Amino acid sequence: MPAISSKKPYRIGRSRTGLGLFATKPIKKGAKIVRYFGPLLDSKKKKDDAIENKYLFELNGRWTIDGSVRENIARYINHACRPNAESDVRPRKRKVVIRAIKNIEPGEEINYDYGTDYFKAYLKPIGCKCDACEKKRKKKRAEAKAERLRLKAKAERKALKKAEKQAAKKAKETSKPKQKLNGKSKHLNGKRLNGHGGKSSANKMISAKSGISVKSRGKQAPESRASA
Ligand SMILES: [Zn+2]
Repeated sequence: MPAISSKKPYRIGRSRTGLGLFATKPIKKGAKIVRYFGPLLDSKKKKDDAIENKYLFELNGRWTIDGSVRENIARYINHACRPNAESDVRPRKRKVVIRAIKNIEPGEEINYDYGTDYFKAYLKPIGCKCDACEKKRKKKRAEAKAERLRLKAKAERKALKKAEKQAAKKAKETSKPKQKLNGKSKHLNGKRLNGHGGKSSANKMISAKSGISVKSRGKQAPESRASA
């Protein structure tokens, strides 16, 4: 890492994406922070035009600054979609200065918008990790989580309702076995019971029992268990 004079209002430090430039002193809105510098590349020269790295800063159609040199502290500044600085480009002077566009407090990371071309080429494929984009992602994740929880709660409510219904049904069954029969057979059984009302209680028991066993074959397991 290149040495930085303690007089400078920034230092290189760990950021979300690796290294970044952080304010060490308050930086006023509009103040020059650091120059983005490096050898000038002339696109008319084949050798220059062949150079390719992430730190090329295009001034105009012809001139590009190769900011990949170690001494270029500005290359540590990360991109942000909602930055606190900007690149002030002076093509005629072939000069780029990073300037604060907000008051920057000590400890804050300094960043500027790298522009659409860079964003599309380098950031979009891996996902921009700037604060604004992270916030957006976090919000989306929170929303997705809330939706999952909502659906889960809904499913649980449904399951509870079903269980309550079954419990109520079961309670009814235990008090009145003949009510277990559904629809047609219930009616039939009722008729039969009415018809055999005068018979002995033993007979009644048998008819009720057989009714249950018929029913339990057709219904699901918990009920057949209940009747057994
Ligand atoms: Zn972003």
